[in-house]
Parts: sequence; C-alpha cells; structure tokens
Amino acid sequence: MKSLDENLRDAEIAHGHLCAGQVLGVRLAMRGLELLGIDDPHGADRKRLITFVEIDRCATDAVAVVTGCRLGKRALKFRDWGKVAATFVDLQSGRAVRVSAKESSKALAKQMHPEIENKNQQQMLAYRELSNSDLFTEQWVRVTLPPEELPGYKGERVICQQCGEGINFQREVRHDGKLLCHACAGEAYYEEIR
Ligand SMILES: [Zn+2]
Ligand SMILES: [Zn+2]
Repeated sequence: MKSLDENLRDAEIAHGHLCAGQVLGVRLAMRGLELLGIDDPHGADRKRLITFVEIDRCATDAVAVVTGCRLGKRALKFRDWGKVAATFVDLQSGRAVRVSAKESSKALAKQMHPEIENKNQQQMLAYRELSNSDLFTEQWVRVTLPPEELPGYKGERVICQQCGEGINFQREVRHDGKLLCHACAGEAYYEEIR
C-alpha cells in the first residue's frame, strides 16, 4: 500500500489542489482497502475492487485515485446521496465494507488545532492526524452485483423504441408495453429546445 503522503501527492495532482476533502477521501479509501486486505489496488489487486461513492465532491476524486476505480472502467459507481461515504467491494472474497465520515470530525479538528484560523488548513492537518475511529464509521455490508454491473460485461444492446438511441447494460425500461430509455420513459434531466 502506498503511504498517506504518496497518496496525497497523487490526489493533489489528479484533483488540481490539496484540500481537506482530499485528505479525508484519501484516508477513507485507505481505510477501506486496509479493512479488505487489499494492498496493491494499482497492481496485483487491480481487478479486485468495485467502489461505490455517495457524493460528487473533492473526497470522491481522492477515493478514485487511491483505489484506482474509475467511472469509465465501471469500477466506480456513483449514488447521488450527498454523503461523504464509500463502499468498497472485494470481488475476490465477496466481502464489502462501507466507510462514512463522522460529522464530529470537524469539531475535533477545531479542538485539535485552535491555533489555525483557516478552516480548510485546520481540517487538512487534523484529518492527517486523527485516528480512523475518530474520523469514520465502518460497517461490513453485503452488496449484490448482477453481471451487468461488473466491468467487462458484454451484453446485448437494446434500441429505444421511441428515440432510437442504443442502450447498454440492461438500462432499458418497459413502459406502456415498449422498451424505452430512461429519458423517453419520463425520467429525462433535460428538455429539448425546439
Ligand atoms: Zn478540493
Ligand atoms: Zn429513448
């Protein structure tokens, strides 16, 4: 496993700056890997891990850097829940652990370094020093991953019967007797301008 400093350096490069969220994300991901006994996520253990993240913020980039799990590799799954938490799934053992950041860590950072006025600086330092149990809640969980969720899944593509666009990974939905994409089934996040 890379050291905290090595991971922080990688995270800083990938994210564009170092911030409290990066430090927290690096620690969170390192803890997840440690609990699963995954030592070399970029080498020997490269295909062992799937990570679910629950927020799209600074910490998320750090989690991706430490674990090597990326959206484009289908190894990083995003659940838009607004929570600084991630679940690490070991495909080899079938074990999974969810690690979430404790609300109390901000107050602890303040107690620990009252001499630092800047909140980000204060938390950046404290998040390096605080123990895992001060920073995180850990839960062993079960995650069921059907084949279409796994990297490398090759399935048939379905064509949406309304818009004609191709749909991968069994994401089509049956709606009024038709096979449709999510947008045509009424879940579009966009509105076409005519
Ligand atoms: Zn940031
Ligand atoms: Zn469609």
